[in-house]
Amino acid sequence: MANPIVAIVGRPNVGKSTIFNRLAGERISIVEDIPGVTRDRIYATSEWLGRSFNIIDTGGIDIGDEPFLTQITEQAQIAIDEADVIVFVVSIKEGLTLADEKVAKILYRSDKPVILAVNKVDNPELRSEIYDFYALGFGEPVPVAGSHGIGTGDLLDCVVKEFPSETEEEQDDSIKFSFIGRPNVGKSSLVNSILGENRVIVSNVEGTTRDAIDTKFTTDDGTEYTMIDTAGIRKRGKVYENTEKYSVLRAMQAIDRSDVVVVVLNAEEGIREQDKHVAGYAHEAGRGIIIAVNKWDAIEKDGRSMQEFTQKIRQEFQYLSYAPIVYVSAKTGQRLNKLPELIEKVNANHAQRIPSAVLNEVVMDAIAYNPTPTDNGKRLRVYYATQVATKPPTFVIFVNDPELMHFSYERFLENRIREAFDFEGTPIHLIERRRK
Ligand code: GDP
Ligand code: GDP
Repeated sequence: MANPIVAIVGRPNVGKSTIFNRLAGERISIVEDIPGVTRDRIYATSEWLGRSFNIIDTGGIDIGDEPFLTQITEQAQIAIDEADVIVFVVSIKEGLTLADEKVAKILYRSDKPVILAVNKVDNPELRSEIYDFYALGFGEPVPVAGSHGIGTGDLLDCVVKEFPSETEEEQDDSIKFSFIGRPNVGKSSLVNSILGENRVIVSNVEGTTRDAIDTKFTTDDGTEYTMIDTAGIRKRGKVYENTEKYSVLRAMQAIDRSDVVVVVLNAEEGIREQDKHVAGYAHEAGRGIIIAVNKWDAIEKDGRSMQEFTQKIRQEFQYLSYAPIVYVSAKTGQRLNKLPELIEKVNANHAQRIPSAVLNEVVMDAIAYNPTPTDNGKRLRVYYATQVATKPPTFVIFVNDPELMHFSYERFLENRIREAFDFEGTPIHLIERRRK
């Protein structure tokens, strides 16, 4: 289930982010209309020879105001902690530098496979020079030219060879969920409280992510859950633990493996920019989402506090209008017994399949109520709708001309679908196709 993780390391300017973008290829989806999510990417999912994997550009993780050499060694350490395979990038232009050797020294300490990529080999004549890099001790260097896309296929071949072999995953029907959020919102406290409430813990299972430990438990009604733990929750005290990019990275790894993501906010501190980034990734990944406002015990409340906080959330997270909000306290256990139930419901909505006949009735009723838009005298015609996928529910609408589907009309249809069926907690996707 979990994808292997490939981390790219190397000193600045060797071409890490260029190579990252190449390896991520078309799969990098940049969603322009979500504030905060458009920034430079450091994490992506890709595929080569039929194997999916996640890539991290450690160069994008800046470690506060640390001096340059500390930064690159921290980044190399992150690669060791997080990755199954490390791609160590150097550059033929500058040749072997002290900083390269510094990075190499850190990598020696790990037993992770390291693939040495020599970048900026823009023409074949330069190839003979790559052998200088043998001195680093990582075996045969792979020549690439990130900015031209040369050699990246060979590099990926080498990377994929090092992946742990695919083991048959045993059938696991448990509901996978995770708590994500910036540091200190109370994620690990929530993990512990939930486990305290649900004492039938089936097992702790090793995740593939370094030192992540997933916990399975069963509630009284017999529903099985797997709580996806991110290493960041249990392991503390690293310098980089509190840097935003790093916690976003942790969050993304958890999101990838979850059916339902609980975005945790801190009632005491209100909504911060970083909360939006984390929530934006969960939305973009198409997972079921619940917003949990934690530390609800710690604030002074009057009769309107909850309503006001809800209003703020709706304003700041407009794209998450489908997500239910719960007010909880890891400290007192307030409403935590309700959380598994809600997770189960959101999971069911996320996996829901609507029969075409019922769906079309709803869509045609909507059109009768609010006629389709026209453009230059040409009217949008909707012929047929059908659900093509779950998790998240995805609908294809066959039309005469997709260009005629305005954003506002699409939203109207989405709202109608949401009114007719229970899709609380899940994004739904509508795709227009031209009917041949
Ligand atoms: P990073 O700091 O390691 O992430 O490096 P970047 O990806 O930002 O690249 C640093 C510089 O090297 C940029 O100006 C790139 O355009 C350039 N660069 C990247 N790949 C190549 C390459 O294959 N050939 C050449 N000539 N330049 C490259
Ligand atoms: P994480 O970094 O998101 O995992 O946050 P922690 O679980 O480590 O919690 C950060 C701090 O908030 C700790 O001092 C917790 O004791 C405190 N905390 C967590 N949940 C609650 C809560 O519901 N109420 C109060 N008052 N404090 C909490």
